[in-house]
Amino acid sequence: MPGKPRTRRSATSGTSASPGSHASLRSANQGRVLDVLRSGELSHTQAELARTTGLAPATISNIVRDLSAAGLVDTQAGSGRRGSSVRLSRGAGLVAGVDFGHSHVAVAIGTLTGEVIAEERRPLESTHAYADSLALATTLIGDLSPDHAPVLRVAMGLPAPITDNIIRGPGILPGWNGADGRALAEDAFGVPVDLENDANLGALAEHHKGVGRGHRSSVFVKISSGVGAGIVLDDRLFHGAWGTAGELGHLTLDENGPVCRCGGRGCLEAYTSIDTLLARTAGQLPATTLDELLAAARSGEASALRALEDAGLHLGWGLAGVANLLNPEVLVIGGDMARAGELLLESARIGLRRHALDTVAQTPVRVSALGHRASLLGAVLLAAEHTELSVD
Ligand SMILES: [Zn+2]
Repeated sequence: MPGKPRTRRSATSGTSASPGSHASLRSANQGRVLDVLRSGELSHTQAELARTTGLAPATISNIVRDLSAAGLVDTQAGSGRRGSSVRLSRGAGLVAGVDFGHSHVAVAIGTLTGEVIAEERRPLESTHAYADSLALATTLIGDLSPDHAPVLRVAMGLPAPITDNIIRGPGILPGWNGADGRALAEDAFGVPVDLENDANLGALAEHHKGVGRGHRSSVFVKISSGVGAGIVLDDRLFHGAWGTAGELGHLTLDENGPVCRCGGRGCLEAYTSIDTLLARTAGQLPATTLDELLAAARSGEASALRALEDAGLHLGWGLAGVANLLNPEVLVIGGDMARAGELLLESARIGLRRHALDTVAQTPVRVSALGHRASLLGAVLLAAEHTELSVD
């Protein structure tokens, strides 16, 4: 969310007890245990909880008993009470992720640990207006949610720059341009909503669950109808001053180049997006979809191979700028175009090596591990992270 501090909220209860009182200490300790249960492994033994939080085993036993009575955790017998495993209960609440694209909407229901339990994807008209699209998303959330657990929060991704929750999408999302996405979504869903650029959500998911896992910095480049990037530095999403960092698609590669939908010339997107690629090969190939173009390339069709190679070289040029500027540990290529795999990445690495400094020329360029689900999974992770839990 632009301009909003990204600090992880504590899961402590909303008690009004004075600081230092017995009640406030208990509440803070409950929050520490809940925070551990919401991150990383799905379940923990009581002994592990004591080790991780630094609390006494007897204190952990009491906290687990209270959290269990409040319906927030489930326990499963193990060897002795301290060996019993504890996990966050689904009854504690669920979250939803919503991912809108140029011509699709995907919805997922997830647990507070960010684990997806149900999801669905539907096509949309490319001119879809927000009112209809939000109504469809609301229906999908309702259909996918189990009866016994409430959806506490939703995170929603859109392929557009977002500043102060206003969607700036004249190109890719004409039916949403200028709308206050968060206010509209909160009206539709009836719960708090986080609004985020879709490439940022993809970056979050790849960083925590995909190719970026185990690294501290990664840049995710989403190539579909448009081109955008999400930047994770020191394990945190980087938004920039006004929330729109990562608009890599509009990096100028040639000021005399082809006109871009942003009004500029020679932007990376005007060489690398799927729409550009299909327009470029329209005279030589009958392909009207990316998959038809990829099939032609795989059967050795020279014009398809050349178009992908050109797109890859330009992508590599853009990646070189990213590597020179940010020195991320890994560059991840996602979005529909990632289906091109090595047909695109081989020339992208050549472009990267040609334009990057020696120190960063070998930065790994990898295909997204999460595919077209990356932004959706990132939405579930974000909503889970931002959900506050209360024992009261
Ligand atoms: Zn542009």
